[in-house]
Amino acid sequence: SSGSAGTSGTRFDLEKETELRFEVEAGERVQLELLSGLAEVFGSELNRNKRYTFGPGSKIAVFTWQGCSVSLSGKTEVAYISKDTPMLLYLNTHAALEQMRRQAEKDHERGPRVMVVGPTDVGKSTVCRVLLNYAVRLGRRPTLVELDVGQSNVSVPGTMSALCIERPADVEEGFSVQAPLVFHFGSTTPGTNIKLYNKLTSSLAEVFSQRCEVNRKASVGGCIINTCGWVKGSGYQALVHCASAFQVDVVIVLDQERLYNELKRDLPHFVRVVLLPKSGGVVERSKDCRRESRDEKIREYFYGFRGTSFYPHAFDVRFSDVRIYKIGAPSIPDSCLPLGMSQDDTQLKLVPVSPGRDLTHHVLSVSSVDDDAEVGAGQSRGILESPVCGFIVVTAVDTQAQVMTVLSPAPRPLPRHTLLIMDIRFIDLK
Ligand code: ATP
Repeated sequence: SSGSAGTSGTRFDLEKETELRFEVEAGERVQLELLSGLAEVFGSELNRNKRYTFGPGSKIAVFTWQGCSVSLSGKTEVAYISKDTPMLLYLNTHAALEQMRRQAEKDHERGPRVMVVGPTDVGKSTVCRVLLNYAVRLGRRPTLVELDVGQSNVSVPGTMSALCIERPADVEEGFSVQAPLVFHFGSTTPGTNIKLYNKLTSSLAEVFSQRCEVNRKASVGGCIINTCGWVKGSGYQALVHCASAFQVDVVIVLDQERLYNELKRDLPHFVRVVLLPKSGGVVERSKDCRRESRDEKIREYFYGFRGTSFYPHAFDVRFSDVRIYKIGAPSIPDSCLPLGMSQDDTQLKLVPVSPGRDLTHHVLSVSSVDDDAEVGAGQSRGILESPVCGFIVVTAVDTQAQVMTVLSPAPRPLPRHTLLIMDIRFIDLK
């Protein structure tokens, strides 16, 4: 291992088209400084003589097109320079997408809609980030569509969202998340409710297309869709569904030839399917590691980045002031379904929940649906299709007094009264 601590840090000299990869040890922080030359982290340029701090578990690559010197201080688990990176291939992909945007501009058409797919831990999120950064650095306004319900880069886990990218990602914090469009899915794997997953994919596609109709820059910028690592069975079907819902033009398959061949076979011939290698720098993440980063994402939502910026509120909510639902009734055998009802209907059904102790620690989405909206059998669609305006966590339930205590980013009262339960729990240790 390298990167021994010290005020000046360890110096690394990088030749052109190489990258310095490092991982931050648990419980540690590492500082990075660009001393000379030009360098970028996942497509975001570094400023000279600025100290960038990365928290525990961060896995970072500092790439340089021209050559540079950087210094690292703090405890790294590994730190090494690699000459073997697929960045040139990613840049070429970007160049091809940019060509499509230019053509779209000329022909008054829409820009490229790109879906990034592959198994877990192949660097899908990173490729999305690089492509979005390169596009926005050229003045484009691409949209990030986040369909990875396990590891969302936009909102808390269990959500599906779209975010218009207006500036490159912050080197330390990622993309600035202002006014994203977020839908409640409720769990960290699409398999828990694949009907809902596909439905919300369609809803996002619809909203994005509507935006493209009224916003020329958004239309030309196109979108980059980040997907889940589940690429078999219904997971694969969900990718095919997404390609058709968004009418994607390009599919980037990372690292899996079988998936590449399947998609080439199953998608319409005008969809360009490209196979790209994964970066040797992408680090496999354990289950625990994923759980931790999900937890961190929720903590960030309430407390801000590195726990210093926001001060969430705790207050009581009376049961009688809210209506709480879970989406999807437990599936029942086909033979037991009421006449004229299909399994689809049960997966998309809103099930009213009366709050009990088992609600403690659950994350709830606050739906933006009108408080007065009728919730009859026919009306549930309104709630499924309404974006979320925020999240709360239930920290305690008092069934006797009929109140629950919640953690909320904003002071009371809740902005809306329709709450949707997530399978996801968050234990607030603050
Ligand atoms: P998931 O399975 O969650 O969908 P993914 O395929 O989207 O994962 P990423 O999140 O992009 O994978 O990458 C996994 C980890 O590897 C991240 O922590 C990322 O910062 C790191 N990483 C990606 N590329 C590199 C690289 N070239 N060098 C070092 N670390 C990297």
